[in-house]
Amino acid sequence: MKKEKQNIHDFDLSIIYSFFAHTERQGPGSPEQTMKALGFIQGLNEKSKIADIGCGTGGQTMVLGESLQGEIAGVDSWPDFIAQFNNNARSRGLHTRVSGMVGDMADLPFEKEELDLIWSEGAIYNIGFERGLREWRKFLKPGGYIAVTENTWFSGERPAEIQDFWDSIYPEIATIPNKVAQMQDAGYLPVATFMLPELVWTDYYTWQALRLKSFQQEHEGNPAAAGFIETMRYEAELYSKYKQYYGYMFYVGKKL
Ligand code: SAH
Repeated sequence: MKKEKQNIHDFDLSIIYSFFAHTERQGPGSPEQTMKALGFIQGLNEKSKIADIGCGTGGQTMVLGESLQGEIAGVDSWPDFIAQFNNNARSRGLHTRVSGMVGDMADLPFEKEELDLIWSEGAIYNIGFERGLREWRKFLKPGGYIAVTENTWFSGERPAEIQDFWDSIYPEIATIPNKVAQMQDAGYLPVATFMLPELVWTDYYTWQALRLKSFQQEHEGNPAAAGFIETMRYEAELYSKYKQYYGYMFYVGKKL
């Protein structure tokens, strides 16, 4: 019988977090792509309230903080990431407007129609794209915006190996027209959709391959860490083999 491949969600959180600690970003993305998405959003000013959900250590939040005048709240469930986020904000002099808090994206601490913009890079999949779009909508003012990245199929069909891999990890992965329809059905005007370039993935996996070497030394003899390393390497290998079939898209919507 074929051994079932493990996926990242099978691992102890502390393993995942020790792997990602002290990194600028915890998923594929770049300041250029954050700025590109921001370019589709209008009407923000120094009174605007913004939330970055699943902010991690705040790589993209600091880019937003340096480009926007409003108040930004980063929310993440992992306290160590939030501590690093707040250090980053302080060292950039952004801490009076940009602050991180520990929280759950399934139970956000915002008021109804409080926010002008909801941001979320590489994180909405944790509760699912559709659910996130629907549940977070109430926190936006009418006419407010949402901008998220989401793993997406680029074609209608793909080889079984990659289909099976994503079906086992994130069965909600779908094609671009499907995702756009979900955004529209959730009560948003789909304002923009664009593909993140391959470079954000190759940068991400190049960094990851380096980090895996030191991580391996740090966790010598730990079978869970060894399993994690194997899983990460397998995911990177699949990406290089099947990158024409999937990747991250940015979806920007306006609350109707
Ligand atoms: N936006 C960052 C981090 C992406 S990684 C970046 O692009 O670099 C996904 C993040 O979602 C992690 O930091 C993880 O801790 C967070 N996360 C996972 N489940 C969550 C939940 N239920 N509520 C809040 N954050 C969550």
